[in-house]
Amino acid sequence: MDQRITPAETAGTGPDLSGAVRQDWTRAEVRALFELPFPDLIYHAQRIHRAHFDPREVQLSTLLSIKTGGCPEDCAYCPQSARYDTGVKADKLMDVDAVLAEARAAKAAGASRFCMGAAWRNPKERDLDRVCTMVAGVKALGLETCATLGMLTAGQAQRLKDCGLDYYNHNLDTSPEFYGEIITTRTFDDRLDTLGHVRDAGINVCCGGIVGMGESREDRVGMILALATLPAHPESVPINMLVQVGGTPLATGRTLDAIEFVRTIAVARITMPASVVRLSAGREDMSEETQALCFLAGANSIFCGPKLLTTPNPERNRDRALMDKLGMVPMD
Ligand code: SF4
Repeated sequence: MDQRITPAETAGTGPDLSGAVRQDWTRAEVRALFELPFPDLIYHAQRIHRAHFDPREVQLSTLLSIKTGGCPEDCAYCPQSARYDTGVKADKLMDVDAVLAEARAAKAAGASRFCMGAAWRNPKERDLDRVCTMVAGVKALGLETCATLGMLTAGQAQRLKDCGLDYYNHNLDTSPEFYGEIITTRTFDDRLDTLGHVRDAGINVCCGGIVGMGESREDRVGMILALATLPAHPESVPINMLVQVGGTPLATGRTLDAIEFVRTIAVARITMPASVVRLSAGREDMSEETQALCFLAGANSIFCGPKLLTTPNPERNRDRALMDKLGMVPMD
């Protein structure tokens, strides 16, 4: 049954709750969604979620750091930046065989997508040769492939497409207004350029952001607005809760209220109704109840495996137990 309601039903009475896929969201509309009473927000997010997805299904991805640490960028949340003393050791790019062994293990554990992350500002051509071999090898195992390697040129995006890359992750991180507080070594527009190259090459876009970095509600509005008004909605939208890591500039500070995090997920679901919304970093410290609320709010993807690049993530058996408890199943 199509559970969408028509724009006419909500016209003049508040934000568009029709569940239509549109890129012309306004700041006032996104703000109004954030301000909905929580029961209404969750109801509409769940209703719209059901119009596009099976609400029991959760897409499972595994993320492997193929090149850890030593990154020249200054992202304030990131333990892999060479500028911060976080205890993360800088490693070289992994060998292809070692990556493929990890991919086989991820597949055996139920993952359908294997993401490879490298701590680079942008990949060098020589390194990209090896990454392309990894991508082709992971694809041959029957897994969807995803990579996050920093900024790409149009030519690099095309090379990745040609070797079989399905998704490229490149987050906007936060609102354009707050962005300068978090990163100074590359601009918001640089990020949009890379996303454009990825999209033009025909690779699916994985793009989201991080909350809990000291931003305001209005910045969360701005972040969702920036994502929902991209030329096309990202196929995957990871919403991360900041993991405070010692040594980074964001190691301390007030954590974000869990209900506000759930609201952010719900607004992402309503504004990007056909995208897979990933409950991403920060799950290790999240209660089962908060995670369940996120699923109710329309999250339908998680990273599984004990580590997310360098920060802890729930063990697979804990995720399996939670999914069993909620009657949820892995998406094919
Ligand atoms: S988030 Fe990525 S680009 Fe930024 S410092 Fe970390 S590894 Fe480098």
